[in-house]
Amino acid sequence: MLRACGAVKFRGPGNLTAPCLLCGDRQGLVCGLCRACASELPVIATACARCGIPLSRAGLVCAECQQRPPAFSRCYVPFHYRDPISARIRALKFAGDLPAARELAAWMWMRRPPRAIPQALLPVPLHRRRLLWRGFNQSLELARHLGEWARVPVLGDRCARIAYTAAQSGLDARRRRRNVRGVFHAQGLGGLVHVAIVDDVITTGSTVGELARTLRRQGVEDVEVWAVARATLRP
Ligand SMILES: [Zn+2]
Ligand SMILES: [Zn+2]
Repeated sequence: MLRACGAVKFRGPGNLTAPCLLCGDRQGLVCGLCRACASELPVIATACARCGIPLSRAGLVCAECQQRPPAFSRCYVPFHYRDPISARIRALKFAGDLPAARELAAWMWMRRPPRAIPQALLPVPLHRRRLLWRGFNQSLELARHLGEWARVPVLGDRCARIAYTAAQSGLDARRRRRNVRGVFHAQGLGGLVHVAIVDDVITTGSTVGELARTLRRQGVEDVEVWAVARATLRP
């Protein structure tokens, strides 16, 4: 289901004929996309109610979450990590294409579920070294837009990644969990009971799971996860 973009404006009143951001040959009417491109985004139709992994039916909880319930309550991850979503995420992360963050956030926002909005958004922090190398935190860039449209604060300074870890890619689920254990430090979250972690791509959920655990230890009772896309671990 497509929901209205609400506050998301991709053009001013004098520029109603801007082209679609993806195909460029039709008018971008729905969050910058033509109706054909908007309806062809790789949406995850039915997913685990807890971790967001694609499942054959809605309303189910996957075996992994039943055996090992994650520290977060639920995930809102609308897309598969496939083109054009994956291309936009790579453009953002590896080519510094910051307008892509706004587009991805808008496409997420357009598919948001009809649920209570959290009190605040907390982007997954990067380690200082990685932040210096990249120059920006892609999760913070996504959260800034989502926070503006949801009208909730973005807590970009309450949590730090205190250990530099190897990239998660190439590791299996168990090694991923071990790789991120204890890497986050959070503070100043008093009074918050419902927070959403914002990330770009989720694979096994180990990073957001560890961050959720950190926030829960700080007294945040209900931690959910918002991410653009769900990737699958290559066997
Ligand atoms: Zn189009
Ligand atoms: Zn699950």
